[in-house]
Amino acid sequence: MTPLIAGNWKMNTTVHQGAELVIRLRELLKGIDTVDVVLAPPFTSIHHLSHLVADSPIKLAGQNFFWEKSGAYTGEVSAEMLLSAGCQYVIIGHSERRTHFKESDEEVNRKTLAALKSGLRPIICVGESLEERERGKTVKRVSSQLQNALSGVAGSAIREVTVAYEPVWAIGTGRNATPEQAEEVHNSLRDLLYEMYGPDAVKDVRIIYGGSVKPDNIDSLMAQPNIDGALVGGASLKAEDFARIVKFQPM
Ligand code: PEP
Repeated sequence: MTPLIAGNWKMNTTVHQGAELVIRLRELLKGIDTVDVVLAPPFTSIHHLSHLVADSPIKLAGQNFFWEKSGAYTGEVSAEMLLSAGCQYVIIGHSERRTHFKESDEEVNRKTLAALKSGLRPIICVGESLEERERGKTVKRVSSQLQNALSGVAGSAIREVTVAYEPVWAIGTGRNATPEQAEEVHNSLRDLLYEMYGPDAVKDVRIIYGGSVKPDNIDSLMAQPNIDGALVGGASLKAEDFARIVKFQPM
């Protein structure tokens, strides 16, 4: 399975700043062909960056979208718009969307189904709060998020899905899950996917980790058998740090 390293720029970078970052990353990532590299810039940068990432290992993702095709939905963008701007992937259900914009499991499911139907590859985020972890509810919480997100997703489409395990308490806090904590959850998510779809259908489904991933912890995370990549927030805004993460060396 090819690992996937994705950078989520969140609400950072103007068009000019985004272009500078990608131009530097292109140089640093020249020749990389063993990792799928995905960047999720703000919507305003995607089309411009699509020209800059051509002939490079970098693919683009939306950070969000709305499931309807078009119409009176002020402020939203559709899957078709993301595709036409140059995206191949879309992040769905990031914890910041669940928290700040009250996105529900049902909405995450509608977006997942719409993304798959349109040909966008969803990166579905799941993760527990600190309180849920402390109460021993982590696996229960992330399993129900994933099950709900995948409701109605056919076995023939599941290989297009990437699952991102992002413990909410580890996002943007500098406090990452230990490789063992992450591995335990990834393992249980893998089991759930097997149960839902069978081993053949899910053998290519990547489960990536997100939450304060940095150059100094990526190697030990990637050494875990069920961690297939990373979703990187803060560190993806620094070209050198993100390139080092892409060039991880499992230890
Ligand atoms: C994220 O945005 O998905 C994320 C994991 O952020 P950070 O790496 O900054 O914790």
